[in-house]
Amino acid sequence: MTTGLIRIDNFIGGKFRPPAQGNYLKNVEPATGKVYGEIPDSGAEDVDAAIATASDAFQGWKKSTAQTRSTVMLRMAQLVEDRLEKFARAESVDTGKPISLAESVDIPRAVANLRFFATAILHTNTEAHITDHQAINYTLRRPLGVVGLISPWNLPLYLLTWKIAPAIASGNTAVAKPSEITPMTAFLLAQVCDDAGLPPGVLNIVHGTGPGAGAPLVAHEEVRAISFTGGTATGAAIAKATAGSFKKLALEMGGKNPNLIFADADLDTVVETTVRSSFSNQGQICLCGSRIVVERSIHNEFVKRFVTATNGLKVGDPLCDDTDHGALVSEQHLAKVKSYVDLAIAEGGNIECGGDAPSGLSERCTGGFFLNPTAITGLGPDCRVNQEEIFGPVVTIIPFDTEEEAITIANGTRYGLSASVWTSDLARSHRVAEALEAGTVWINCWMLRDLRVPFGGMKDSGVGREGGNEALRFFTEPKNVCTYTGD
Ligand code: NAD
Repeated sequence: MTTGLIRIDNFIGGKFRPPAQGNYLKNVEPATGKVYGEIPDSGAEDVDAAIATASDAFQGWKKSTAQTRSTVMLRMAQLVEDRLEKFARAESVDTGKPISLAESVDIPRAVANLRFFATAILHTNTEAHITDHQAINYTLRRPLGVVGLISPWNLPLYLLTWKIAPAIASGNTAVAKPSEITPMTAFLLAQVCDDAGLPPGVLNIVHGTGPGAGAPLVAHEEVRAISFTGGTATGAAIAKATAGSFKKLALEMGGKNPNLIFADADLDTVVETTVRSSFSNQGQICLCGSRIVVERSIHNEFVKRFVTATNGLKVGDPLCDDTDHGALVSEQHLAKVKSYVDLAIAEGGNIECGGDAPSGLSERCTGGFFLNPTAITGLGPDCRVNQEEIFGPVVTIIPFDTEEEAITIANGTRYGLSASVWTSDLARSHRVAEALEAGTVWINCWMLRDLRVPFGGMKDSGVGREGGNEALRFFTEPKNVCTYTGD
């Protein structure tokens, strides 16, 4: 190991284990561009070991009571909460997101995920169906067995716990494969499992690349379900790889979310929230709006106010408490996002703000992956910049004349993850919400979440739904029992 680097290992059968082949990947801090850690470059042998131990653990865990599972998961939640500062710092260093965001959103929401499913399983009920005077039917829901959980880099702990919590709460055992770009909070969570007394093998964490560790997990015949969040191309590869295997699949994928702003909306609130919904986590939240579709009569006024508010964001070291906008997650991702700024210019767009690197960064951050929050006008809805997912701090502002046109623009991409509608006309807000092809529609707000509602995307943004009962249903299978009660 290179001196001074933080080396982490896989968590298999309740123990930290180095990868079988002894290979490690470099972990880079996005704010500095420097390598600060090493993570296992795991392969099929490591995945097989994790699945074998998960399979053994399933025999005991599936018979445990809901109360037992709930108690240990609540202990896990409490330990994450007790270590909030440690988790938030690790998340900020790993991802480049402002530490204030990790402290106030990512880590508390991960705690909430664990608590939500730990307690949900104590309150489920089962309906019986009576067939006239002949029979009583009831439905048992049974855990599936070993499940595979694959997550991305943008909200690493939040999205991983969103999968882990329902999976193990409902009696499955799991092999999780976090993003190789942001592994640190998953490593800290493994320590929490140990300290909370989660039985060995119930949750296993295997680090590594998609092809190296993700693909063998997807392909393994003992894995009964894959819950995946990431890009649409990866989701398609997983769907292809599992075709014919009859594994259950939940795929949460990319988006190109529209914000529809009508002239009768409260512009102060719209601007304030739209800056947040555009640039939180450097625009790297799957629910960020990336196409701002504004009624023509207020378009110029909106652009002016939006640009002023955006220019007021403090871009800088994510570890400083007052930073609003940190670094993008990797050099490669920054290059991809910047290529879309170049493409926008080539397509005839106007850069209203941003598009360049911030000046005046601290010395620590001079090698980091920064891009100023960027707004672009003058592009038609069908150009590539308005069709392809950029997943960074780059938004476009598109004018519309009629409600119908606004809906056509909003629905005019392959994606359908989320949308927001801003209007003071109640009837219109519901009419437009119904017409939008999106799994979640916010009216006059953004990112409010109730963990009970089904979450996920339509079209190429998702297959299946997570959240609340949907997640508990996904990770279990029904078995109907019918008793004859006639004479
Ligand atoms: P990605 O698809 O590159 O990677 C996601 C995960 O899949 C990683 O752990 C990766 O190692 C793994 N992986 C890659 N190839 C694989 C393969 N062949 N088999 C199995 N696993 C494989 O996505 P990313 O760049 O980490 O994340 C960004 C994407 O995630 C964006 O498209 C964003 O919209 C999406 N996202 C969606 C949601 C949602 O809820 N819909 C939430 C967050 C992020």
